[in-house]
Amino acid sequence: MSVISVPFSCMSLFDKLNATPELRQVHGHMVKSNLISSSSYLSTNPFAFYSIVRTLSLQSQNQYLSIALYSQIISLLDDLHGIEFLLPSVLKMCGMLLAFDEGRQIHGQILKGRFQDDPFVANSLLRMYLDWGELEFAGRVFDKMPNRDVFSWNSMISGCVKVGDIGLAQRLFGEMPEKDVVSCNSMIDGLIKCGLCDDAVDLFEGMNVRDVVSWTTMISGYVHNSRPNAALELFRRMLDSGVEPDVVALVNTLSAIADLGFPDEGRRIHAYIRGRNIKLSSGNIGSALIDMYFKCGLVNNAYNVFKRLCAGDGSGARRTGNWNSMISGLAMHGFGQEAIEIFDEMERNEVKPDGITFLGLLNACSHRGLVEEGKHYFTLMLQKYKLKPSIQHYGCLIDLFGRAGRFEAMQKVIDEMPMKPDATAWKSILSACVKHHYVTMGKQAAMKVIELAPDDSSCYVLLSNLYAKSEQWTEVERIRKLMKERGIRKVPGCSSVMIKGKMHEFLVGKEMGVGCRAVVLSKLKEVICRLKSQGYEPDLSQVLVDAEEEEKESLLSVHSEKMAIVYGLINLDKGAPMHIVKNLRVCSDCHSFSKLVSSVYKHEIILRDQNRFHHFKQGSCSCNDYW
Ligand code: ZN
Ligand code: ZN
Repeated sequence: MSVISVPFSCMSLFDKLNATPELRQVHGHMVKSNLISSSSYLSTNPFAFYSIVRTLSLQSQNQYLSIALYSQIISLLDDLHGIEFLLPSVLKMCGMLLAFDEGRQIHGQILKGRFQDDPFVANSLLRMYLDWGELEFAGRVFDKMPNRDVFSWNSMISGCVKVGDIGLAQRLFGEMPEKDVVSCNSMIDGLIKCGLCDDAVDLFEGMNVRDVVSWTTMISGYVHNSRPNAALELFRRMLDSGVEPDVVALVNTLSAIADLGFPDEGRRIHAYIRGRNIKLSSGNIGSALIDMYFKCGLVNNAYNVFKRLCAGDGSGARRTGNWNSMISGLAMHGFGQEAIEIFDEMERNEVKPDGITFLGLLNACSHRGLVEEGKHYFTLMLQKYKLKPSIQHYGCLIDLFGRAGRFEAMQKVIDEMPMKPDATAWKSILSACVKHHYVTMGKQAAMKVIELAPDDSSCYVLLSNLYAKSEQWTEVERIRKLMKERGIRKVPGCSSVMIKGKMHEFLVGKEMGVGCRAVVLSKLKEVICRLKSQGYEPDLSQVLVDAEEEEKESLLSVHSEKMAIVYGLINLDKGAPMHIVKNLRVCSDCHSFSKLVSSVYKHEIILRDQNRFHHFKQGSCSCNDYW
């Protein structure tokens, strides 16, 4: 205990206390360190005790003890004069430490001493109940407050938001006499958390004064509502309006950029972070940057951030999250061996892996067909690190065996896993069946996915794919009808290509916002012609309708990624790398098309599809045609 500078002369109180072992320890310690002497034993000055309470409260390990001491003292005192000056900090601790009994006891004393009208005391009491999530008790305190200030209202509103009672929050917000920026920020946060993003936008746009929290809340709101474009736009507006973003705003914006896959934007924010001397180790900036670079297809940049993060004061190298970002990023790009190397280094550095680390590793193995390695890491996770595998880990294992065509091993995992496979696991099984052409099992898996996730269009498409491959056109037609009956619409393929810092979007068969459909289509014809002379043969099995050969070919040629690539060929400088983002999995025809374009037109194509990255270079793909 640190030195207590007030004379202690209040030991008779100790005698009365229902002394817990901890309190006796405090007593003993004070006698030993001569903080109290036996001669002062008789005095009953409570202020000395308050000093002890205050001293204990400043030591995080003794905070609970200080509350216990305080609540006992005030229950023994007849004259409560002077206790109010400590009440706010003690109530705050009761709230923080969830000290229910002590908090209620202190509340009783507050009523007894008639301190409830003191605005500081009343607000602290309110906060305590809100910290406990006791909205009803908080409401009672609030209703009885004679002088509610803006702090009281704001506490109530943020308390309602915290427990998810958006209705009450909205009512209070409406009744609040004078709202400030904090009230609006809480309300925006609450609306976003309840999925009422548009109401949040209205409120945000209507604010006269906004602080950094307002901007940050709105940006992260967009990110969590899958509106990355809006998040990025708002971030730009924030900079334009002269508000300096905080770490949370930067991390959220990086996550929006990662979603969009805009490498230029990502580089710009990285430059901003460097320019402001913001440390990579502050908050999650480092791992957000790594993640962003991976998702924008810039693997080397991700490596560089990681290296700098580990080089600094070493704190970056100790954070599991940073290693996890590296491993999952490499997995996404199909760099299985590299992901394993990072893991080895992690072990050498004695950084403890967690469930996410192994999820990344298993993904890396499965994307690369490293079956034995995958099995090894699954066992390592169980035996060495004693981590309990989640359904996602089993899903990865199923995927690992399924992709490799090891159906017996896959079945064994399904039979032995402690939980039932979820929709994602069944989808992996279905994909494996499509890949290896197991019609019967595929059909069963598809039925399971449809049962578990009836609105997911992708399994209908996969099943129809499976039938189309074996030319069972009546079945294909039946699935098409089923989808129509159930009102399920196939997500249209959409690809974007980055040209001079701007994204251009193409929807299957159409172009959006470019206004040069004719130019793209005629160039496409020319490119296909040139590729055909180099051995390209359209893979007609990828067309899921029973159509004439010629028609199938033209349906194939308008897949959105082909249009995006051709648009890139028209507009990019010769040899410049081409960044494409596709919303669905790339089909095998577009995959061979892209490989050939990369060699014939000498462009590196970095394509991100729904599941992973493909780096097409000089006629081959980084996925080794294993995706
Ligand atoms: Zn395609
Ligand atoms: Zn590939």
